[in-house]
Amino acid sequence: MGTYENPSNAGDGYSMAFHAGAELTNIECFQINPLIKDYNRPARAYVSGPFGGHTVNAQGNRFMRSDYWSGQMMWEFYKELTGPNGPVYLKMNHLAPETITEIEQILHTTERPSRGRFHAGRDKHYGEHMVEMAVSEVGLCSGHSASGVWTNERGETTVHGLYAAGDMGSVPHGYMLGAFTYGKISASSAAEYIAGKNLPPVDDCQVDAERRRVLATAQREGGIQPHLVEYKLRRHVNDYLQPPKAAFRMERGLEFFQRAHEDLEQIGATSPHELMRAAECGFIRDCAEMAARASLFRTESRWGLYQYRQDFPDQDDANWFAHVNLRKDPATGKMTLFRRPVEPYVVPLDEEDKRSYQQLRIAEGDSRRVLTAVAPATPQHAAKPLGEELASLTSAASLTSANGRAQRDPSRQ
Ligand SMILES: Cc1cc2nc3c(=O)[nH]c(=O)nc-3n(C[C@H](O)[C@H](O)[C@H](O)COP(=O)(O)OP(=O)(O)OC[C@H]3O[C@@H](n4cnc5c(N)ncnc54)[C@H](O)[C@@H]3O)c2cc1C
Repeated sequence: MGTYENPSNAGDGYSMAFHAGAELTNIECFQINPLIKDYNRPARAYVSGPFGGHTVNAQGNRFMRSDYWSGQMMWEFYKELTGPNGPVYLKMNHLAPETITEIEQILHTTERPSRGRFHAGRDKHYGEHMVEMAVSEVGLCSGHSASGVWTNERGETTVHGLYAAGDMGSVPHGYMLGAFTYGKISASSAAEYIAGKNLPPVDDCQVDAERRRVLATAQREGGIQPHLVEYKLRRHVNDYLQPPKAAFRMERGLEFFQRAHEDLEQIGATSPHELMRAAECGFIRDCAEMAARASLFRTESRWGLYQYRQDFPDQDDANWFAHVNLRKDPATGKMTLFRRPVEPYVVPLDEEDKRSYQQLRIAEGDSRRVLTAVAPATPQHAAKPLGEELASLTSAASLTSANGRAQRDPSRQ
């Protein structure tokens, strides 16, 4: 649904797996990210973080202990953004020039040259200005949240002979490592499954029917242009499903997503590109319905902003320490939802570990202390040899000094 960085993201895989009869899980656990305002791409606070950069509010004060993103981090971010101290910024202007140069070398070369050009075009410099951030639209992606096609440890879905890996599979926070690891595991499982099997002949009637279905939009003259349907669908996703969530809004969204079936029937594609866009509208619609239904089904709040329900603001482990799974009912073709138990932790967690997720917020008044606890800045500070620099920084007991990078006046905004 969301287009985090890539406008062609349309949920093709989730939709196809659903129609093939596979179970999907945790679809209510959205992907939401901090973006650079107007640049609309990731702010990468976790790149500048180890160098001493922070997420701060408009007063330049830190309000959370970790900038690495999670549902809880996004919740703290959202509250600050929409509260009296918003908007939210990425602050690097307290860092020494050589540290900023090092950050720029990563963010503006290895990561994205366009980011450097964006800032230069507005005459903004990390050493002088803070970088305004915003909240992205919602999306579904197992790599960045916990949603995906339900698999076991062999990458098998609930459909015999169908496998999922990477951002498709329900391997939370898998990223590239998860994609590579499960790519190999799922491919090995699939190869084992297929070895020595006689494949059934291709059913020509089925192929013809599918071809007719897909090409129907190309034969419809004067139909609605696909980008108009896509725009409306994506907008409704954000109008009705963007957290904080509430039942009435999501039910209203569901009405739109149901009615969108009629729009899909009226799309007219005039080129192969539009034919693809038309197919993508169907995928976006399916994912929107899955997201609305799963979010409505889980009547509690969990994962910070990702499933924050204004009408059920508390986490309810007694009833909801479970996965919400969905699939297409083979008899009715309707979307059905149900719970699956959570497997026991492989590595036991103590109570402190379990609570730490919810404890990101820096208490009121503490953020000044957190920032000013670094070694005092002097004009010579940046020029110190690195060894001495590290020694002075690491000796200061603070969150910000733990990164061991050069910093200058921490109160500068
Ligand atoms: C902005 C951003 C930053 C990231 N940063 C990091 C990072 O720093 N470190 C990290 O480890 N991970 C990072 N990730 C996550 C990582 O990129 C993904 O988890 C990983 O690429 C997923 O791999 P995949 O093969 O499952 O999916 P993808 O890489 O998305 O590959 C899916 C492929 O399928 C194709 N496709 C889609 N639909 C169809 C269709 N209908 N028919 C045919 N082909 C189709 C697509 O074009 C694409 O080539 C980042 C992701 C994003 C978006």
